Amino acid sequence: MRAVSKVAPMRPPTSDEQIAAMRAHVRENATDRPGVYRMIASDGEVVYVGKSKRVRTRLLSYFRCAFPEDKGARIVRDAERIEWEYTPSEFAALLEELRLIKRFRPRFNVAMKRDARNYCFIKITKGAAPKLVVVRGPGQDDSSIYYGPFMGAMGVSEAVRELNDVLGLRDCSADQRMNFADQPELFEFFPRTPGCIRFEVKKCLGPCVGGCTVQQYDERLTLARAFLDGTDDGPIEQLRSEMEAASERLEYERAATLRDKFKRLEALRGQFARLRFAVETLSFVYTVPGDEGADRIYLIRRGRVRGELPVPQTPSDATALFHLIEDVFSPNEPLSGQIPTHEIDELLLLSSWFRRFPSELERTSAAGTVVPLAAAS
Ligand code: SF4
Repeated sequence: MRAVSKVAPMRPPTSDEQIAAMRAHVRENATDRPGVYRMIASDGEVVYVGKSKRVRTRLLSYFRCAFPEDKGARIVRDAERIEWEYTPSEFAALLEELRLIKRFRPRFNVAMKRDARNYCFIKITKGAAPKLVVVRGPGQDDSSIYYGPFMGAMGVSEAVRELNDVLGLRDCSADQRMNFADQPELFEFFPRTPGCIRFEVKKCLGPCVGGCTVQQYDERLTLARAFLDGTDDGPIEQLRSEMEAASERLEYERAATLRDKFKRLEALRGQFARLRFAVETLSFVYTVPGDEGADRIYLIRRGRVRGELPVPQTPSDATALFHLIEDVFSPNEPLSGQIPTHEIDELLLLSSWFRRFPSELERTSAAGTVVPLAAAS
């Protein structure tokens, strides 16, 4: 999740009387249970969404900010009322907070900034001649394709640069005009020489100067995607054969350069394999004890919650759970390094949760170990 930047509307600050009324409302009505809350402005804008293990204590802390410039004080001065709902557990509150932030995109929310810093993704941009970009997370309303997450943005950036060079993919700015070879009419207006060293040294196919057709560029991009998916070692094999050929021709300098590239790509492949494994480890049935007995079961596959329901109380509940588990953990889903954009934040959230509370893993069990009667007992 990233900081959401919205222009602050011109609203008068909430009066001291209204702030006192909000505080009294919390004092009288809120209890110390897990839950989520929304700070809402006079025009209905949700300015902040939060969660807490103890909603009452957390909400009252907003009224004790020492300085007017404190974030909590600024939120309260922007809000006219506070709404909250209780959840069965802190984990449920965390998931609900994420959903509410996605829905309302409140101005003051910068949730999960810290977790996002730990990871990066490889994004395939849209438009003519897509390119690979290393990013921290999805942009707003972005339907691009993402692979990851990865640890270590610098190493991943270097490896992506190598992959671009090997495949001849572009890495120039987003607004660079493309002129494919099958668009000859454009050359009446644009020069054939880009003034770009990557084209001259054959590290880019040159889609900006008719160096390739749309199809030729797409083929290289498909290769890159297959490589990022872990389904094709084509780029590595291509380098290996080029390296061996250069060595046979006694072109040792070129062979050494190719060997270095080869190593970088192997490292990237290794990185992918490790991270794919990391995501796969977040696949299990997670039972979370709930407030006042509202225990819930979460079906987590590849770092995303694919299903949730109360802990079964009857044999028919247990059978329903069993069938849901069968659906969610169906072996038909192909393994892929690709992550749907809308699932990235949830994957980061779950990974952060189990990293912060590793003992929670003791509440998990492999999907195959849950059977109807066991679940009902
Ligand atoms: S050759 Fe053209 S498309 Fe390729 S990187 Fe350079 S400017 Fe971009």
